[in-house]
Amino acid sequence: MAKFAIIGLGKFGIAVATTLYKNGAEVIAIDTNENLINEISGNVSVAIKMNSTNEKALRLNKIQDVDAVILAIGNNIEVSVLTSVILKKMGVSNIYAKVDSKIHARILELIGIQNIIFPEEQIGQQLANSLLSRSVLEYIDLSSGHSVVELVVPDSWVGKTLQELALPTKKGVNIIAIKYTFQKVTEQGENVITKKINDMPGANDIVNEDDVLVLIGPKIKINNLINETIKKG
Ligand code: ADP
Repeated sequence: MAKFAIIGLGKFGIAVATTLYKNGAEVIAIDTNENLINEISGNVSVAIKMNSTNEKALRLNKIQDVDAVILAIGNNIEVSVLTSVILKKMGVSNIYAKVDSKIHARILELIGIQNIIFPEEQIGQQLANSLLSRSVLEYIDLSSGHSVVELVVPDSWVGKTLQELALPTKKGVNIIAIKYTFQKVTEQGENVITKKINDMPGANDIVNEDDVLVLIGPKIKINNLINETIKKG
């Protein structure tokens, strides 16, 4: 079972901790505020009142053994930075840190934190992208950190086979289905558009103009792909 520690039980930390726990993960929740610890206990595996800058306490609670630590203290840069340094020193390899400002993000980057989350900025960018994009028809977040999107085939992909596109190896996303678009002329001479779904796409299947691809992958990879292929207008 995957094991996580969440440090800081503000709105963000609580959402991460309780969602992980609901989905079967082992979750250690940490905060200095006793009320928050009492409130969350029952919705996580264990809730500990602790100061995250106390290395001894972190070690005693075996925080070095978890799969990932989510450091969700946005409003106190000093504590966030000091905790990050201690976690790195303890050998925690997977640290996700929430920040509330650009300067906070920059400092954590400089001390080598790879996963920096700036929720307001990231959600704002995502919303703007999906509002501007004519190519993303559907965007669904799965609780696992993955997303499913329906993407109109970008111009540079038209006429290529799935093997040529090699999205799983090149972009880290998988194609679940291709929705083909056909133009037909009816007996009355009208042009109609029909759709056909291929839900078992194979390596030799070709994508055409106006087809729609249903893709699944880690949210960050899906967003990268959308940003690379986006059609604005
Ligand atoms: P949000 O913006 O998601 O509400 P905050 O950054 O405001 O998040 O939440 C910070 C949380 O971190 C608070 O609950 C606070 O009690 C906790 N916190 C602050 N300093 C420490 C510390 N040294 N150790 C553990 N928890 C801390």
